[in-house]
Amino acid sequence: MVTARKIHFIGIVQGVGFRPYVKVLADKYGIKGYVRNMGGGEVEVFIEGDDGAVNEFIHEFMNNRPRAIYIEEYSITEDVPRGFSEFKILESSNNVEAISIIPPDLAICDECLREVLDPGNPRRYRYPFNSCSYCGPRFAVIDSLPYDRHNTSWASFKPCPYCQREYDNPVISGLRRYYYQGVSCGSCGPRLRLLTSDGEVIETRDPIKYVVKLIEEGSIVAIKGVGGYHISALATNDDVVLRLREKKRRPTQPFAVMALDIYVASKLVLINDRARDVLTSPQRPIVLLPKLPDSPVSKYVSPGLDKEGVFLPYTALHYLILMDTRDKFLVMTSGNIHDQPMCTDINCALRKLGKVVDYVLDHDLRIAHRVDDSVVRFTDGELVIIRRSRGYAPMWIKLPTKLRRPVIAFGADLQMAGAVAINDKVILTQYIGDLDYVETLDDLDKELRWFSRTYRIKDPVLVCDANPAYRSTWLCHRWAEELNAEVVSVYHHHAHALSVAADWNETDQFVAVTIDGVGYGVDGMAWGGEVLVVDGASFNRYGHLMYVPMPGGDLASLYPVRMVISYMSRFMGDEDVINYLRRLNLLRGLPNGEIEARVVLRQLGSSIMTSGVGRFLDAVSVLLGLSLRRTYEGEPAITLEAAARGGSLINGFKVSISRANKSLVIDTVSLFEQAMEAMLSGAKVSDIAYTTQYLLGRAFGEVACDAVREVGNRNVYVGGGAAVNDYVIGGLREELRRCNADIKLPRRVPPGDGGIALGQAYYLSHFL
Ligand SMILES: [Zn+2]
Ligand SMILES: [Zn+2]
Repeated sequence: MVTARKIHFIGIVQGVGFRPYVKVLADKYGIKGYVRNMGGGEVEVFIEGDDGAVNEFIHEFMNNRPRAIYIEEYSITEDVPRGFSEFKILESSNNVEAISIIPPDLAICDECLREVLDPGNPRRYRYPFNSCSYCGPRFAVIDSLPYDRHNTSWASFKPCPYCQREYDNPVISGLRRYYYQGVSCGSCGPRLRLLTSDGEVIETRDPIKYVVKLIEEGSIVAIKGVGGYHISALATNDDVVLRLREKKRRPTQPFAVMALDIYVASKLVLINDRARDVLTSPQRPIVLLPKLPDSPVSKYVSPGLDKEGVFLPYTALHYLILMDTRDKFLVMTSGNIHDQPMCTDINCALRKLGKVVDYVLDHDLRIAHRVDDSVVRFTDGELVIIRRSRGYAPMWIKLPTKLRRPVIAFGADLQMAGAVAINDKVILTQYIGDLDYVETLDDLDKELRWFSRTYRIKDPVLVCDANPAYRSTWLCHRWAEELNAEVVSVYHHHAHALSVAADWNETDQFVAVTIDGVGYGVDGMAWGGEVLVVDGASFNRYGHLMYVPMPGGDLASLYPVRMVISYMSRFMGDEDVINYLRRLNLLRGLPNGEIEARVVLRQLGSSIMTSGVGRFLDAVSVLLGLSLRRTYEGEPAITLEAAARGGSLINGFKVSISRANKSLVIDTVSLFEQAMEAMLSGAKVSDIAYTTQYLLGRAFGEVACDAVREVGNRNVYVGGGAAVNDYVIGGLREELRRCNADIKLPRRVPPGDGGIALGQAYYLSHFL
């Protein structure tokens, strides 16, 4: 009997060889009908044929499809046979039946790499842009859905007759190129171009060999990749790395190192099985891993840190460059200046990077979306995403509860991402960055507009942070005027807590520990060390770090000596503070030394108060002489964590917890005082660093256990930018074990502000 079905597939189904696979399979079973891409990123399949054949077809498709195809949902509906005479790949439709995942960028696959390294393959040997249905740039080159060549940057390259034949006929080179939208080769694909930093084109037959020669000679080169430009240089030469630091005006911020393969990487950092899996995954993030003592990487690549950010090539271009170098690894850091967005076109590269680099290796595959490298690390043994971008974005995350109206979430201001949300899906943008610059704010605006347009969002509710001074909040209100839309604001740490809860599908009342630098609190103070009891759209502050003044507001983060003064002044008089600063040689951490320290002391009474973990860790880091100034986000806390490696617990330290008003208060002032006494009595820096962080974690655990006993839910959700700290998390985990509670760190979003838009969207699902 002839039957017919219509199936809609949702997941990663466009740009991954879905249509050709279905076509080949349908032909195999004698099934007629069609497959087509749809405007929401979904795929529609219509099949008709003998009942048994139809079922076998569906069965084989579900069990045997190529691994690049990810199916999250599908709906099968009975239909009436229409008498098709064959199975066809139809012209795509702009109609949206259901929204699907926009495919993320994937690292070059083994087959494509093999072609590039095979001298017997004249069209693809050393072809820097080789890719296939299962690998290559996707999101970075998409202008609009459906994912068809004319809607991507590939549109400017007309396939040569050979490529066209591969596209038309699966017999030529199999499913990898059949219907592959980016099909191209050395004769018809994008081309490399080498320029001086003044924009003068250097004539050369082999730009890759030329660039390698320049780098080996010590030049600094901007290299255009998938989602932006990198800055590349020798990682083994101190002078070169220092010159790059000076030019980039980055005295200490770590640079990432790209290594040819896992073998080369294993000479630089300690790689266990899990690290290997992440390093070689199609996402190919930068992975922060422990440095090996005999690593050949210059100590100036990540000064003062115990970890190196390492990643593997994800395009043929990267691979070919690294392969030809002597070292087989290179500095490969973001092509940006200050914290501005990474450059994505040649004008930006010449205008902004021209002063940093000596040469630019450019190509003509246009970048439609800036996509930074993703960054991950292991925290107390668990994989945590620090920056969620290439390879991960724009995968969506499903909420445990549905939204009845679409939502646009504006996130927060640092290392942030925004989001759009529809039904139960939250689509976070790629990593946008810090909103300190108008360029970054413009990028957020542009990406949110793109996602709203692509997913055809109508009549949205806008959600932003409760902090009225945030730039993201300002943008949110500007959109509200433009769209005449409703705005809802969410407290920063409430959103952090809900972000982790959403990631774990938590729907009950729960306890959360949210730890970060500062976030706007209900009392107008700068929160950041909080134990919350969260019940959907409401929360109660169960405990927090002791309030201390944050003299000079943001200046206290930039010059963390200010926080040392703040803590010291809680247990000693002004003259003693000055004397101890002198004795510990900390006055050099203030641009105007002692005079400024005295001004800071007078500011204390009128300063905003903070309970932020970041500010506490900053103060301890300065006290131990690790970071006297913050030159990149989180620097003092990061060096403090690095300094604790190998440290052990100092006996006699005690953290007291008291009750004030309705909350439990963790006494960080006395913890700081104990650290200072240990420092003055000559204890080892690593031991003090370890003890303070670990005991801080234990104290949070004690408060959280109390809350768990009241609430009954044994899962404790931990978020905020400081939730990546090994020792705080280690101490917290150990204490939670005592009350049989489990620590839950976010798995698919960063614990910091990069994941906060998810929490904001989840917040609204409790109303809408
Ligand atoms: Zn491939
Ligand atoms: Zn070609």
